[in-house]
Parts: sequence; C-alpha cells; structure tokens
Amino acid sequence: MDNNNSNNNNGQNQKGPQTFIILAVAAIVTLMLFSFINNLVEDSSKKQITYNEFLEMVDNGKVKSVKIGSDSIVIIPGAKDDDKENALTVPLITYYTGIVEDETLTQRLLDAGISVEGEIPDRVGFLESMLMSLLPLLLIWLLLSFLFSKMAKGSGMMGVGKSNAKVYVEKETGITFKDVAGEDEAKESLQEVVDFLHNPDKYAKIGAKLPKGALLVGPPGTGKTLLAKAVAGEAKVPFFSMAGSDFVEMFVGVGASRVRDLFKEAQKAAPCIIFIDEIDAIGKSRDARYGGDSEREQTLNQLLAEMDGFDTSKGILILAATNRPEVLDKALLRPGRFDRRVIVDKPDLKGRVEILKVHAKDVLMDDTVDLDAIALATSGAVGSDLANMINEAAINAVKHGRNVVSQSDLFEAVEVVLVGKEKKDRIMSPEERRIVSYHEVGHALISALEKDAEPVQKITIVPRTMGALGYVMNVPEEEKYLNTEKELRTMLVKFLAGRAAEEIVFDTVTTGASNDIEKATEIARSMVTQYGMSEKFGLIGLETVESKYLSGKASMHCGDATAAEVDKEVMRLLKESYERAKELLTENREALDKIAEFLIEKETITGKEFMKIFREIKGIPEKTEGEEAENQNPTVSIVKEEEQNV
Ligand code: ADP
Ligand code: ZN
Repeated sequence: MDNNNSNNNNGQNQKGPQTFIILAVAAIVTLMLFSFINNLVEDSSKKQITYNEFLEMVDNGKVKSVKIGSDSIVIIPGAKDDDKENALTVPLITYYTGIVEDETLTQRLLDAGISVEGEIPDRVGFLESMLMSLLPLLLIWLLLSFLFSKMAKGSGMMGVGKSNAKVYVEKETGITFKDVAGEDEAKESLQEVVDFLHNPDKYAKIGAKLPKGALLVGPPGTGKTLLAKAVAGEAKVPFFSMAGSDFVEMFVGVGASRVRDLFKEAQKAAPCIIFIDEIDAIGKSRDARYGGDSEREQTLNQLLAEMDGFDTSKGILILAATNRPEVLDKALLRPGRFDRRVIVDKPDLKGRVEILKVHAKDVLMDDTVDLDAIALATSGAVGSDLANMINEAAINAVKHGRNVVSQSDLFEAVEVVLVGKEKKDRIMSPEERRIVSYHEVGHALISALEKDAEPVQKITIVPRTMGALGYVMNVPEEEKYLNTEKELRTMLVKFLAGRAAEEIVFDTVTTGASNDIEKATEIARSMVTQYGMSEKFGLIGLETVESKYLSGKASMHCGDATAAEVDKEVMRLLKESYERAKELLTENREALDKIAEFLIEKETITGKEFMKIFREIKGIPEKTEGEEAENQNPTVSIVKEEEQNV
C-alpha cells in the first residue's frame, strides 16, 4: 500500500514543475517582447541631442518644457505658452539629452520661461527591470530542481512494484532441472547450491561458509537463464531477475541505488535467488582497457559492497550470466563473490538429442521422426536454436495441412534456421543457374573425392533468404572435437572448389565465392597463427581468441613485419589449396559436368543421387541401401531403414 501511495504522489508532482516551467517561459517571452516593442516605439519618436544643442534650443526659445529625470532630460520642443502663434503646433518629436552637472540650468530654464518638471521615479519600470534580471535566474533554478527531482525519483523508485527498471520476480518459476536438457556438469554443480537454499541452517551449524554467488558462463542461447530459473524452481524459492543493462541509466548514482533496492527487496523475501543477466554490462573491468565510466563503476562498487554485506545464513544466492567472462572485473570473481564458475557450453551430440526431446515432448510427431539424425545435422546449434527448429517444424506441418510433424518438416526447419527460407519466386537466368550449379557441385565433388571430408547430404540451387544462391549440406559422421591438419587442408580445398569450378568451366569468375573465401581465409590464418601448422612460423602463438563464447574473433599481437609475413603465408596456403582444387576438378571433369547438368535440371538433389552418378563415372560398385544408411548416419538404426524398404 505504501508503495502505491508514494507512487501516486510522485505522479502528481511530476506534472507540477512542468506546467510551472512552461508558464515561466511564457511570462519571460512576453515581457521581453513587450520591452522590445516599447524600445522600438520610443526610438522612432525620440531623438538624442547634445547638451550644447539643448542649451542652444533654450536660448533660441525653441523649447516648450523639459522634464528632468534621474538619468536624462526630456525636451519637448515648441514655443513658450505665451507665444500664441505657435501654440497649436503639436510637437512630433521629443528630444532628450544626458544630464550634465550644471547648477545654473534650472535658473536658466526658469528665466527663459520654460516649464520645468522633475521626474518621479517610475515604479513600474523599476519592478519590470527587477523581474527581467531575476526571471532568468528563477528559470534556471526551476529547470535544475526539475532535473534533480527526476533523478531522485529514478533512484528512489526501484522497489518492486514501483520500478521503471525491470525487476522481475517470480514466486515460483515452476522450472526444474528436468526442463534443462544436457548440461549435466552445470546441473551437478548447481545441485549443491539448491541443497544449500533448501536448508541453509545445516551448513551454518557446522560452520561452513556458504557460497554467495555463481557465474554462469557460456554462449548465448545455451540455457543460462533457464538453469538459474531451474535452481529457483528446484529450491522452491522466489526468483528475482534483472539484466545488467537495466541498472545503468543516464544519471550517475541510479544504478547503485537500484542495486541497493534489489538487495533490500531480496532480503525481505529470503531465501531466494537473485539472477543478473548479462552481468558484463555492469561488471566490466574497471581498468581503462575496456573504457571506464563512473556510473558503471559506482554500480559495480555498490554490487560488490552488497555482496560483501548480506547475511548468507538467510539463504540468498546470486547467479549471474555472461558470455564474456574475460572482461569481468577481478574483484567480482574473488572468493566470497562470484567464486564459482559454471560453464554452460554449446551442447554436444547427446545434449542436442536431449534438448530436442525436451522440446518435442509437447509436439505431435509421427514415427518417421528421428531426432538423432536432426541432432547430428545440427552440430554447433545451441538450445535456443533447437527449440526454435522444433517450433518451425510444427508451424511448417500446419502450413502443409498436416496434424503431425514429420522428419521432412524437421529437416526443412533445420535448413530454415541455418540458411533461411526458400525464395521460390526468385527467377535466375539460365546462365546464372549454370554457374551456381557448377559452383556447388565443385564443393560437393571435393567432399566425395577426399576421404577425410564429410559426405554430402543434399545439394540445391534454390536460393534462400539468408543470401545463399545455392548450397551443399554436409552431414558430419560423428561429433568432432579435434581437426587434423589434413582435414583442415581438405576444408580449404573444399571451400575454394566452388570458385575453381567456375574458372575451369566458364573461364571467368563471379562474386559468388566471397563467403567461401572469407571462411577459407579464417581457417588458413588460424592454422598459421594459432595451431602452429605452418612450417615457416612453427609453434608460435600470434593470435588470441578474444571472446570465446561470442564471435570467437581473434586478435593479432605481433609486430607489423611479422603480420605482413603471416599474410604472405596465408596467401601461400590459399593459393596452394586453390591449385589443388582446380587440379582435382579437372581430373574429374566428366563427373563435374554430369552432376551439374543433373542439378540444373532437378534444382535439388540428394546425397544418394549425387553418389550414384559419381560412382557410375568412377566405376565404383554401388553399396547396398543398408550399408549406405549406416555410413551416412551411424546413429540411424538399420532395422528402421529395412522396414521402410518393405
Ligand atoms: P541464455 O540465457 O543462455 O542466453 P536461455 O536460457 O534464455 O539462454 O535459453 C533460451 C531458450 O532456449 C530457453 O527458453 C529454452 O527454450 C531453450 N534452451 C536453451 N538451452 C536449453 C537446454 N539446455 N534445454 C532445454 N531448452 C533449452
Ligand atoms: Zn561456395
């Protein structure tokens, strides 16, 4: 109730100063305009003259009356009252002159019969000028106080119901470890924490120091938020969450007070979990390398202070997520703060199967569905990708008027997530189709020729929304954790084979190979600078990967001369690979032509169709269906394949 009341009051106060300021500005503008016009009018009817001229006028009898003011004398020209001839002339212009110390003036005027008038100080003018000088000050004061009140409100309003920062509280998340698939190591290390939240007394009694915080580290979409919620769900405690960026606002001090309020609220609800997503937004190292700013530092300092301050025996646990642990301030990571680090990495094959199963639970699927095959084809995908794929597949099935999801829906979804949707209405010229076709078959042929490469699953020249004009889909035979040098070299040849095919067949090249070249260069560079696979440089590390969990981009740290040498070495590797690709394709020109023609006709061909033509030309005996399936996809059960054949 209290919160609501104060909230309402704030709302009203907020309007007050604003209208007041508008009124003040309006008043000032009117006053200024008024005095400006006044000046203009005065200017046209008044004329300044020198004191000499004034005296001359007096002597010549051209002055009717004068008004002596505090800083000027106003002279009304005209004949004296008794000069009847000129009495009716109305003076069009009045003159004025400055005051000169001249004691004889009054007497002289009186002698000349001019009416003399002293000026009574102008009260309105005085007030006006006072206002004119005070109002700007007043206005500035008002503006400042308005800004300050806004700031104070920002900091004072963090508490749960009245916050404009998004504190998000769930009494019960309802999510358990069962909902988080894979990530067994992460779950194991968090299990302990759950126990501590269940009965903090057990630990306190024996004198054990309870953990205050754990840092969940991993790439985006791997389920860090999900895990944090699961910890709260398992422990049946409330879940407070806020993103790091929510703390930081324009005004210095707001973040710190938000941290304070968050902890205050949490302490009231203890035992509970506080989850700070993307903690790197506030927890960046305070040393200048990553750029410092005082607001963030204050917020971080407050967070550190709060973490030191709270009483663990109440059972508050802080979980924070980040994908850039390397930028975090060391103070955050020391014992007593986020001293535990839980790695939530990309799922492996088994993990992917489990994640797919978790998300497939509520989706109707027919028995063609083989989640193992999907998992195998999605190496590198994270939990959120996989969840997305299942959903895409379900949508796809509905679109085709089916009420269950089939394997083809799932594969289509995989492709949508990986390369985008088909662009069916894009019409390519026959010449372009030929070029794309040869380019893709070039890639695929190298895969088939080099035993170390992955067998192809599908080749297509149907353009996709994510920029592909055509592509080859490979299926890895098994999960790879290491690559041999030979495999990497084969990859280089494979990436450059598209361009090689274009050159061999059309005697010219296109822009279509830019992505291949980029990838090949990346691999070749890593071979030289990170993997020690170049004879010239040997085992020297010339690059370090900066953000392992994000882009994985590496930065060089070597002299300019060395960098130039590295470039030369990379060029040499790429050139060699390109020559090798041209050599291999020239040797297999017949297969290249046949398969490319077939692809132009069909637009999409399967790995099996590809291998059939390839084997015919090479004179390799065909494998039986069962053997083939086993080879392409070791986890598919053979029984199932036979059933399908029947
Ligand atoms: P992060 O916080 O690591 O970026 P999230 O926890 O927000 O990722 O995950 C996004 C979504 O992806 C989740 O809501 C969930 O549907 C799905 N997801 C991610 N990882 C998993 C997992 N290990 N098991 C089940 N679902 C997952
Ligand atoms: Zn290509």
